Amino acid sequence: MSRSSESAPRTKADWQALASSLSIESRAFIANEFVDAASGETFASLNPATGDTLAEVASCDAVDGERAVGHAREAFNQGEWSRLAPGKRKRTLLALAELMEANKYQLALIDTLDMGKPVGSSLGDINGAIACFRYQAESIDKLYGEVAPTGDDTLAMVLREPLGVVAAIVPWNFPLMMTAWKVAPALAAGNSVILKPSEKSPLSALRLAQLAKEAGLPQGVFQVLPGFGHTVGKALALSMDVDCLAFTGSTGVGKQLMQYAGQSNLKRVYLECGGKSPNLVFADCKNLDQVAKHAAAAIFHNQGEVCIAGSRLLVENSIREAFVEKVVDAAKAMQPGDPLDPESFMGAMVDETQYRRVLDFIRQGAEEGARLRVGGTPMEGPGLFIPPTVFDGVLPSMTIGREEIFGPVLAVFGFDSEEEAVAMANDSPYGLAAGLWSQDIDRIMRVTRRLQSGQVFVNNWAGGDQTMPFGGVKQSGNGRDKSHHSLEEYSELKSVWMSLAT
Ligand code: NAD
Repeated sequence: MSRSSESAPRTKADWQALASSLSIESRAFIANEFVDAASGETFASLNPATGDTLAEVASCDAVDGERAVGHAREAFNQGEWSRLAPGKRKRTLLALAELMEANKYQLALIDTLDMGKPVGSSLGDINGAIACFRYQAESIDKLYGEVAPTGDDTLAMVLREPLGVVAAIVPWNFPLMMTAWKVAPALAAGNSVILKPSEKSPLSALRLAQLAKEAGLPQGVFQVLPGFGHTVGKALALSMDVDCLAFTGSTGVGKQLMQYAGQSNLKRVYLECGGKSPNLVFADCKNLDQVAKHAAAAIFHNQGEVCIAGSRLLVENSIREAFVEKVVDAAKAMQPGDPLDPESFMGAMVDETQYRRVLDFIRQGAEEGARLRVGGTPMEGPGLFIPPTVFDGVLPSMTIGREEIFGPVLAVFGFDSEEEAVAMANDSPYGLAAGLWSQDIDRIMRVTRRLQSGQVFVNNWAGGDQTMPFGGVKQSGNGRDKSHHSLEEYSELKSVWMSLAT
């Protein structure tokens, strides 16, 4: 059921028409007002599929950060949101979800124009973001505290309280969805939230701010500071008055944030970081044609700019040659196209830096002796398009076999035994996701338990919904997005021991 007030764009022409009538907000959102950065500085937000400038966006720095933190703290202490009955917070967040639904084509379009992903994929992200707001809103008045088992002379309670001021720092690959995964549970739990979107995709966050204001979130409870990591991001992370950093991004920046927390006020730091996820295909799996298509989609979806991309494909050697052939065929059918064309499976790389970085990995793969099976050469401009690229015969020692590329590059490895497959899968500093394809239930259970990974997909890739926590182990991070586990992360336990007159 769609409650969208917009008519559904169906064709490329429909999306182009919507784009030509789009009005874009590009100022910061502080204390319920859209304002320029205190410095007056801006940065350009570009459409990577065309190179056109979409907007000059407010470039916030430490001064704006301090202002927003002040308003967030004031709102928290004043209690209009933090002490509101959960059922009432629920109503406001559900109203926000309705407004997102009513504007979902616009939101999807903004993400597509801002970071280059196909519009069909953006629409899926927006639906996911709306579902997340609804799930977290609905959960908040179902989360109980506890009464501890004590004697009659005591009443001992464990209360759940919001943390205070939460700074959410998010990446560009799923701009609004990653935002929702942090902002929805943090707001639901009663916190004041300051969002710093990525400088590569800041625009949908600002549209969300407009909708949040319309939904009735009180002043200072939700604010958005576009800008760079080393300026406003760092300032929020070092602030003595921010209680929690909710971060999604690279492992390198995640490590820096932990240092900033240590240098300042020991704020909580929840990290959702990078991955180099293994996808294990055993010879006993059923329907190799279908599995090959899934294995290709696991890496080429969203141009490979996915934290849980199935970027390491581990195939049992007895079927490897034939299976890789099928993966190559599937890859050929997934060529990038105009992001505004609903038929496109892949779009443009987010920016020139990422584009060059991916091409550099491709060059290293060839130089280090991996066998290029398809792709590898960027497409003619305009726009930053890289086709699906498959390397076979990759060894764990090779750069493309170890490092997160964050682009449409698949590294195929061979294995001879279950033991070897598991060892190879776990031979990584990351542990975000892993998949396995097999019909042997004993093997499935054995391997699932031994994989060092926050999530395991069995005979699928990337399955999950709002009920399932999402996050990693090892250097992929320590937090969990989605589900009631994420809601719990944004609240503090308070133990109350009451002596009773007997
Ligand atoms: P990034 O780490 O470069 O940036 C992420 C955010 O951190 C941006 O908003 C950026 O401005 C900010 N930032 C950068 N330096 C900072 C600093 N010194 N202080 C404070 N903030 C700073 O990552 P990215 O390139 O935007 O995103 C790609 C990465 O995100 C990949 O590694 C990917 O795997 C990861 N990712 C992880 C998940 C997950 O759920 N685990 C989901 C999506 C993306």
